[in-house]
Amino acid sequence: MQRILLKLSGEALAGPRKTGFDEETVRKVALQVKALAEDGMQIGIVIGGGNFWRGRTSENIDRTKADQIGMLATVMNCIYVSEIFRSVGLETSILTPFECGSFTKLFSKDRAIRYFAQGQVVFFAGGTGHPYFSTDTGVVLRAIEVEADVILLAKSIDGVYDDDPNENPAAKKYDEVTLDELIARNLQVVDMTASILARDNKVPMWVFGLNEENSIVNALKGSFRGTKVLV
Ligand code: UDP
Repeated sequence: MQRILLKLSGEALAGPRKTGFDEETVRKVALQVKALAEDGMQIGIVIGGGNFWRGRTSENIDRTKADQIGMLATVMNCIYVSEIFRSVGLETSILTPFECGSFTKLFSKDRAIRYFAQGQVVFFAGGTGHPYFSTDTGVVLRAIEVEADVILLAKSIDGVYDDDPNENPAAKKYDEVTLDELIARNLQVVDMTASILARDNKVPMWVFGLNEENSIVNALKGSFRGTKVLV
């Protein structure tokens, strides 16, 4: 594993508060990413927007506009997390698929690869830049474009189950599952658009709990306890 993309949900940034930012939570992520970067790993970050807004949040405004708000929420999240990363000594850049003035730089594959080579953590903000998509699809798309080895999905749940473990105590956690099985069984790891894009382009995804101590580092160096979604 040399180049990885880490996907964090918006809610993960909010910690127990569910909305906005929880600095302690983000700082723990920053320190783990720093440990991996110091080990020579190239790390890209994609963050959702659910701690502020989702396209589905309002039924009364046009969906395209609602989704634009959602994409901007992901940009705010990336600016925040990028600054916390910098406060622990990492170098970062934020790339977006649309112009945000001087706040971010426009995404291109070449630019991303150049920043990775310089040792920067690269944030892919703004999702795909299009409405009716999600940051799940965004992370798979960027993983394909920048030729990442794996996507790490750090979630509030510690892996992929055959049923909702909150409702069915007998739900079984998979150690491994293929993307074909994921799609056939409609297992809700990422949305269907993202699952199909990952399958068609052979992108593996490792799912694990963000709340477990040091889980991001552990996922890559030894004691992985989540689910590997294989191609
Ligand atoms: N969004 C979008 N296009 C993208 C990525 C995100 O329109 O390529 C919008 C969409 O409104 C989404 C919100 O940004 O609800 C936040 O993204 P996230 O992936 O967290 O959304 P979720 O899957 O939780 O709705």
